[in-house]
Amino acid sequence: MNAICVTCGTQFAEASQAPARCPICDEERQYIGLGGQQWTVLEDLRRDQKTSIQDEEPGLISFSIEPKFGIGQRAFLVQSSAGNVLWDCISLLDSAAIDRIKSLGGLAAIAISHPHYYTCMVEWSKIFGNVDIYLHRDDAEWVMRPGKRIRFWDGETQELGGGLKLIRCGGHFNGASVLHWPAGAEGRGALLTGDTIQVVPDRKWVSFMYSYPNYIPLNASAVRRIVGSVEGLEFERIYGAFPGMTIQADGKRVLRRSADRYLKAIGAD
Ligand SMILES: [Zn+2]
Repeated sequence: MNAICVTCGTQFAEASQAPARCPICDEERQYIGLGGQQWTVLEDLRRDQKTSIQDEEPGLISFSIEPKFGIGQRAFLVQSSAGNVLWDCISLLDSAAIDRIKSLGGLAAIAISHPHYYTCMVEWSKIFGNVDIYLHRDDAEWVMRPGKRIRFWDGETQELGGGLKLIRCGGHFNGASVLHWPAGAEGRGALLTGDTIQVVPDRKWVSFMYSYPNYIPLNASAVRRIVGSVEGLEFERIYGAFPGMTIQADGKRVLRRSADRYLKAIGAD
């Protein structure tokens, strides 16, 4: 069986027994739930949950799991002239979600912002013809189910074709990255940010943390580095990790003023 951690949704390598612990949850950025370490398998998820599909804008749809499972993030299908990229990942893509992706031409690649969203990436790569999975090499130690199609990228940026580009920002994880989609927002550009730049519930601001559930902030230099890494890009929209958490307009100004507010709050302005 390939055990899946119930708290973070990470699928582990094939083993006769569930692992003793989930290293991703048993770490200061995550947590183990009140009931202790619990495991499930994909067959049970298929029975108990479904994948909700949301049309975000032309060329972009998102997926999340209902009822909520694991961390509760969304994944995105980004369409480009070089094919479709699955940005970030969730533990369950049910048959309706797989059919929807196939009807749009399948996947050309998978790219994931950071280890909390690695989830069942190897499973979805296989289903879509063994597509490459792009992960930043600095986070390689957090891969719990290795796969032949995982391509670790190095340095600060990685082109995916069709104008799509991964940018390493760091902060939440050393390799924490965002995806720039220049064709998004009717050609004004969009940034898909996972937890690297977190869209907060008022959808007017973003924030930056080392741990979100355990409220461990980042220091000033880490925040300045995140902002500096995307400053040269054009983007109007920011799609955050969670369903509905989207900055619709003026994303660049929102990022800048959010960093200013954050730095002021920690006494570093
Ligand atoms: Zn995270």
